[in-house]
Amino acid sequence: MAERKYWDLEIETMPLGALKKLQLKRLQEVIGRAYEKSVFYRRRFDAAGIKPGDINALNDITKLPLLKDSEFRAAPVTERITVPTSEVYKVCSSGGTTGTPSPFPRTAKDWEEMVNKNCRAFWMVGIRPGDIVQIRPMYECFGVACTKMGASNLTICAGRGNMDNQIKLAKMMNATIVIDGLALLVQYLRRAEELGISIRDTKVRGAWGIGEGWADSFTKKMEARWGLTFLPRAYATSDMGALTACECDERKGLHIFADKCLFEIIDPETQEALGPGKDGELVVTTLTLEALPLIRWRASDITSLLPYEPCACGRTLPKMSPIKGRIAFSVKVAGKRVYPSDVEEVVADVPGLGEEYQIIADKPGELEKLKVKVEVESQVKDLEALKRKTEAAFNQRLGVESEIELVPLGTMERAVWKAQRLVTTYAKS
Ligand SMILES: [Zn+2]
Repeated sequence: MAERKYWDLEIETMPLGALKKLQLKRLQEVIGRAYEKSVFYRRRFDAAGIKPGDINALNDITKLPLLKDSEFRAAPVTERITVPTSEVYKVCSSGGTTGTPSPFPRTAKDWEEMVNKNCRAFWMVGIRPGDIVQIRPMYECFGVACTKMGASNLTICAGRGNMDNQIKLAKMMNATIVIDGLALLVQYLRRAEELGISIRDTKVRGAWGIGEGWADSFTKKMEARWGLTFLPRAYATSDMGALTACECDERKGLHIFADKCLFEIIDPETQEALGPGKDGELVVTTLTLEALPLIRWRASDITSLLPYEPCACGRTLPKMSPIKGRIAFSVKVAGKRVYPSDVEEVVADVPGLGEEYQIIADKPGELEKLKVKVEVESQVKDLEALKRKTEAAFNQRLGVESEIELVPLGTMERAVWKAQRLVTTYAKS
């Protein structure tokens, strides 16, 4: 029997026109539902003078106000949801990237949708029935998706913090895929080596770093270093309910799950809409979430929509570029905005540097020089030469002057979940 090529053949290969029709139908439903049932959304739409009947084309969405995450979180969740609490099946929560966790009530249908979105993404990145997937972040929705598609999941009950036991158990259980936060994945691989376990000698064939974007050169370096494949990138925030965009094997941008969401890109300062190919802030409208839909929610992540073209994988879903990072974690250096992924690209390309780095902002506003602290591999002897080489690489690749501080491997604080790449050393007033 030929292998199933897509998880969801009909949607993933739907002609663009039909996909847009489906989006409009779902958009109208979600706007109608939010207006009817959510005190929060009705108040906002009334203030903007918009009724559900005013949404007759996809572009009409721009009539609705943009939603800042702070506004969304500030309103009581009972005002935001569109179902009575008796219909809430599960309450998920954010990873707390911004410091405060946020509850996301989901109906049974929402949960099923989330599981299916994860299945679609897992299949797209090459996870298959028979894989034994170690899911380190303990995401229930990942585990359920793995089971549904026929891969065993190995959510080892050693706790997120107990890395040593998890590495040993993965070896004993012949895990084939390891999923973890990207920063933790690096720690996992290094720790395995310290424990005398060579990943090359295990059954692990693929690693999937989630929760953060990462640079192409970083992937290549990690693959060469550890002898495994990094699975293609995916994108999600907890707010959106599971994985919502994912790269296929072509690795030329992330396919947007456009039947589940509508993505727009805006200039974060002027809020002007930006067309394909232009980097800006992602704005999300969920099309199928029942309990807590997002309508023109500003995701704070920087990306671009890619010009539409058919993908060699056969999928017709439109694409976006990999996430560059969050606006809040970027710095402006001599007129240029620099994101952690830009820095990562350079750090991964200079032999002798480790994977851990931090961008240092030592004063508010624009910096004259990019300041980066980075770990250096223990075999490097001539630190001064490596520093000069790194500064030259930043100048050449990013066009900015830099000041590099090299520190020994293992001396920088390790991430508990996501890595903190931007460190502010001045007192904020
Ligand atoms: Zn593709």
